[in-house]
Amino acid sequence: SKRLVIKVGTSSLVLPNTEINLRAIDQLAFTLTSLRQLGYEVILVSSGAIGVGMKLLGLDKRPETIAKQQAVAAIGQSELIKIYTQRFAAYYQQSAQVLLTRDVIDFPTSRQNVINTFEELLNMGVIPIVNENDSVSVDELDHLTKFGDNDQLSAIVCSLAQADLLLMLSDIDGFYDDNPQTNPEAQLFSHISEITDVMEMAAGDKGSEFGTGGMASKLKAAKRVLDNQSQMILASGKDPAILFDILEGKTVGTLFS
Ligand code: ADP
Repeated sequence: SKRLVIKVGTSSLVLPNTEINLRAIDQLAFTLTSLRQLGYEVILVSSGAIGVGMKLLGLDKRPETIAKQQAVAAIGQSELIKIYTQRFAAYYQQSAQVLLTRDVIDFPTSRQNVINTFEELLNMGVIPIVNENDSVSVDELDHLTKFGDNDQLSAIVCSLAQADLLLMLSDIDGFYDDNPQTNPEAQLFSHISEITDVMEMAAGDKGSEFGTGGMASKLKAAKRVLDNQSQMILASGKDPAILFDILEGKTVGTLFS
């Protein structure tokens, strides 16, 4: 059977007014459960812990210290998992929480343990919900302990689980030859087999100050996936039902293969 890693970003899970996007989470739970029933093995990499934590605490901007962000993430992560667990349960789908740190790259025993965990969960028909363990991983800039961001984490999970395909759901419907938010003439790449310097230029630099790594980070993840002989599709996360279209072979977003 085909093994899939699906990555969703905060922008798909938290509305601009900081409300939790329950409709998106419910649609995701429905779609992933359906995929499981169709015979796919499914791993979800979900961001959103800080966004949900902010909502619970009534914060309108991220706290300034790393320690406070870690505390907010800890509050948000358990709530986020609670919502996922409830939504998956509504479709009689068991889910599980897997929190990772860079130990899974640095230490072979840790690596093997997480590989074993994924294998067992998938054998049991469970959908693992993966995130970085923010209480342990420190500074975003400290690459010794952090994965970087969930784009990198999802590519690493794809390789650990030897998944066939990483489906990266974003706030944009694919990778363009220039930023479509600023250049309306930008053209979508539908298939990329090798990431060139010109493409890296088109991805621009890091995204917002605190946000995810933007398109540059997604290209870096795609590079990892290609190096690992797997495939990645970058597509819009607006409607999770797009996953059905992709798996039916419709041309959607940008395929890296
Ligand atoms: P997410 O929150 O879904 O992880 P990001 O905000 O990190 O997504 O990255 C997607 C954003 O990257 C797009 O909304 C767009 O503004 C920006 N971007 C910059 N360059 C490009 C490009 N060449 N093609 C597509 N998007 C780009």
